This record gives sequence, C-alpha cells and structure tokens, in this order.
Amino acid sequence: MQLHMGRLLAVALLVLCAMQGQAPPKPCVLKPYRVLVVVAGWGDPASQVIAEKDAFQPVAALLKAWSVPFDILRLDQQTLGASYLFDRSGAVRYGAMLWLADMPSYAGKNLAVLTEAVQQGTSIIVAASRFTDPVLERILGLHYKADYRAPDPVLRGPVHFITRELMDDAKPGREQSLHIWVECRGAQALISQGRHPVLTVYRPSPDTAAVWIGAPDMRSLLDSPYWRNIFQRSLLWGLRYLVLPDVDYSRRVLVMIDDWGAADKSFLSYWRYQTVTEELMRDKVIPVLAHHHAVVSANVVAGFVDRKTHRVISPWNQKFTDDYGVQQDYESTQRGLKAAVEAGVLEIQSHGWTHMQPDLDSPPGPWWTADLDGEASVGGWYEEFEDTRRGVEAPALAQLFHLKRSLDYLRQDFGARPLSVIIGGGGWSKSYQNHSARVAAQAGFGLFDINESYFYLDRDLALDMTGISPASGHQYDRELHPEKWPQHPDGPFVLLFHDRDISLQHDFVERTFDALPKDTMTLSMNHYVGILHAQVTSASEGIEFGFQYEEPYGAYFGNHPSSWRLLLADPLVDKIKQSATANLIVDGRMAGPLNTSQLAERPVLIHLPAGTGSHSWKLELK
Ligand SMILES: [Zn+2]
Repeated sequence: MQLHMGRLLAVALLVLCAMQGQAPPKPCVLKPYRVLVVVAGWGDPASQVIAEKDAFQPVAALLKAWSVPFDILRLDQQTLGASYLFDRSGAVRYGAMLWLADMPSYAGKNLAVLTEAVQQGTSIIVAASRFTDPVLERILGLHYKADYRAPDPVLRGPVHFITRELMDDAKPGREQSLHIWVECRGAQALISQGRHPVLTVYRPSPDTAAVWIGAPDMRSLLDSPYWRNIFQRSLLWGLRYLVLPDVDYSRRVLVMIDDWGAADKSFLSYWRYQTVTEELMRDKVIPVLAHHHAVVSANVVAGFVDRKTHRVISPWNQKFTDDYGVQQDYESTQRGLKAAVEAGVLEIQSHGWTHMQPDLDSPPGPWWTADLDGEASVGGWYEEFEDTRRGVEAPALAQLFHLKRSLDYLRQDFGARPLSVIIGGGGWSKSYQNHSARVAAQAGFGLFDINESYFYLDRDLALDMTGISPASGHQYDRELHPEKWPQHPDGPFVLLFHDRDISLQHDFVERTFDALPKDTMTLSMNHYVGILHAQVTSASEGIEFGFQYEEPYGAYFGNHPSSWRLLLADPLVDKIKQSATANLIVDGRMAGPLNTSQLAERPVLIHLPAGTGSHSWKLELK
C-alpha cells in the first residue's frame, strides 16, 4: 500500500512539475525556499530603505529574523508577470507568495498568471487583505463580502496543522478590531468570530496551499504572539518546511559598551570620567566575561577630536592630565581592549569616527574654540549623523566619509572588521537621500544600531528591525530588572551601557551579569550579523539545502560551527517516511542515519562545520 501510494505520488509530482513543451521534469520534493512578498506600495522610491512607516515592515523584519529568503514586488511600480513567477527552466521561482496588498493597489492588473504559478507549486498566503480580484478569490476559495465589527469571541474550528499548536490564552483581547468579512467558497474556516471566518485554508491544486489570515493589520503578525504563531505556521504549511536559526533568542542578550576612545570624557563637564585602564580591564572585566562565557561588543570611536591642534587624531597615543586634574590614558585603554579581544570576550565594533557632527567649523561654531562652559557644551555637537545643532541632516557624503574613516582606523588599530555601527548621541538622518542606515550599508556594515532599535543592512536593503529585539540602556546607578523585559522570541534583547559605567563603578560588569537570569547567554554581534546574513537555499532535486556564509558578514562562521532547525509540515513528513532509510550527508560526506520516527513532533537539527562560503546538507532517501 505504501509503495503504491508512493508511486501515485511520484506520478502526481511528475505531472505537477511538467512544463509546457519542455524537457522531462525531475522529481521536485522541496518547494523553492524563496517567498515573493507582494506589497501595495513602499515609501522609498528607490526601494532600498524599509522604514517603520512602511506597513509591511513588521513582516519583512520577521522574515529576515527567521532567515526566510524573500523578494519584494511593489504594485505601485511593478506589474506581476510570468518573468517574476517562473525561472528560466520553467519551474516556479517561489515556494510561496505572501500577498500583503489591499484594495485598490491591484485594481486593473491582470493576475491570471497567479493561477499558473499556483497550479505549478507556489502556495499563497494572504494577510490583512480584502483580495478583491476574481483570480485571488478562486485561489483562496473565498469571497470578500464587507467590512464588519462584532463583539463575538474568536473560536477555533476543526483541527488543522496551522492551528494545532496555537495557545488560545495568547488570543488578542481587542476582538472587535477584526474587520474583514469573507464567505467561504470552498475554503475551510479554521478560526471564526461568530459567522465571520478569521483564518481560512484551501487547496487550489494538489500540492499547494492557500491561506487567508484575517489579522487586523500587518503589525499584529509581529506584535501579537497569537497572530505571529498563525503567520509562522501558515508559512510552514505553505512552504512545507522552514529552516530557522537554531538560537533560543528568548534567552539571549546582545551586550554593547559604547564610547571607547571618545575624546569628550576628558573635557565635557557633564560627561567626564577617567578612561578605563588596562589593569581595570584585566581585573574586573575580562575575568567576569570569561566566567559567564560572554562575548560583548566594544563600540569604539576611532578619532579623537583634539581641541589643542583643531584636528581629529588617534585616541591611542593620548596620555595626559585633563583640565579637571584627571589622569587620562587612552594607550592603556587600547591595550585593555586588545587583551579582551585576545581573551575571546570582546568584539570591536564601530561607534563612528568622531562622535561629533561633521561640520565643527561653521557658525554657531567653530566648536574647536567655543567656550566649553557655553556653546561647545551643547549636545547637538556630539551627534555624528545628524546636525541637530543647526537643525539639518548630515549630508550623505559626509556620513559616508566618517563611516569609512572609522572602518579604516579600526582595522589599522585593532585589525578588526566591524560589522555594526551605533550612532553617537540620538541623532541620525532619515530622509531617503541622507538615510544614515542606507549610507552605513553602502560603507559595508551589516547592522546599524540606533540605541532602541536597529536596521539590518546588506547591499540591497536597509531594513528597520523594530519590534524584533527590545532594547534597554543601563547604567551604574540603576538596578537591572530583566524580569520586566518584554518577550523576544525572534531576536536577542539588546543591552547597552558605556565605558563610563565601568570607570565610575569598577564592579559594574560583574553586577550586571550577576543580575541576568541564570540561563541567559550573550549573543555576539558578529554571530548575530552572521545569522541574519546567512543565505539558505533549497536544491531543485531531493531534500537538500545550501547555506552560504558570505564575507565579510558571515566571518563569524569562519571558525565557529553553525546549526539550524528544520521544521517540517505533515505532507513533507509523510513523503520522507515513505523511505525505509534516510541518511544525512553534510558537505558531501556521510554524517549518519536520521531517525524519522519523530519528524512531525520535533525539528531536525542541521549541524554544519566551521567555514565561510558554501555548505550543503542533504537527506538521502532510499
Ligand atoms: Zn556614545
């Protein structure tokens, strides 16, 4: 019976994969690991910056946090056509399409090609949309009737893969805000509010799924644990598998320490303290971090604004007694930082070049000669990526110059290749032409931090990750309250303090780490950037995945192994279980058999050896 079913399935697959007038198809077991995100519009006309104001930002951030590869199609500039949906072999390019566009962005567009893609294997998930197009209606097996508002409770219907692990206690309280009334025309309602379906599922062709998620908006897919779970399970159902980072982010904290090398600690009345010395690092910082198996970021300012010579010079040969009579020894600080890197507890990251705005010469300056009790003390001077003193943005070219100086000098002084930059002060430029995150991406950074949030950066994209990782500043005269931190299943908690705290309270690092919950581990910035930039692909034959760790973003994996969690939906589990034996092949070498008995209950762990570049992981079925 099993064999017979297997043969039937193979025939069905052959039919599914058949291309019109093309060479005989190969058995395609896995859908392509790529999602097409269809959006109505996008604020950035050049399609580089995804900002918080873009309605689809939460969904893009989630897909990035889950390492799900995606392309974006914007209906305000593009037309959906076969060239997007099929690759040159004739096979579908996307395992799933995520339709986030609402009326009237697609009025008048011909969506007929969608039907072909769905017939040939692309699943479709529609969220927060009225899908008022006959093609979408047929694919979803649904019809949009009207908007509505109702007080009824939200209740689960028949048991289904998407909802079977859903916790009802996570249900959103404001049920009245659900508002799109649809009528099932073939689709099955998995969750309903009175007579209004809230989540529906349909099978428009034998091996594709069509899911409609009646979430009130796209932000709730990230912010609400209930909708987030539905969204992830719908994606898993549509693609039949997900390859997620094997990191328990809920127990991870990303620790950053700012202001190493900055000049202002030696002259600014309200921010003055002694440089942290090598001895202090060796006595009170390095051993504590080592004891906690922690790796933290030192966000280093690479240039010293020297009020004597009116030049930006190297911090690391500064040794003097400041005007307050404090002994400042930046040489010692550099030795301490190097010792911590050597001990494997610290990564050098960028805090810009000067921690000061690019124009220190024009009115109301020059800052170099302005009174430190007056004009020179004003906060706006100490922000590098926005000119708040003059009420204008920092020009893109000036920002790029500063960022490149920072990269150059940190390489010269520490042999480091920083992957993240955190802005000095609170200011950064937000217009698309001067957008600080976009400029940082251009300079080669992989992450742009703005204290309370951060952007993921690559050559194509600056993506605001707001909502993924909560963040908190901490300082020596405050208590740490990790029990009040919000949940963060998809990214580490970001904890930020300054070298000042260590200078003013020598056991600050120890106190801080002792206050963290016992099962908390740090996640280093280079590790995190490496995960976010990993490119996961599926092979066109068999059950095989490729993992690409590209330099410089993936440098962490050059000398660290990595692991991923492979989640499988029931149809794929059933396919794998038809085989009597399953062997793992990692990077072309046999890595032992796979126990298939619990495939549906727990994720398969994918372990990869250290090394940048390409890795492969294959499940060989016999
Ligand atoms: Zn700072």
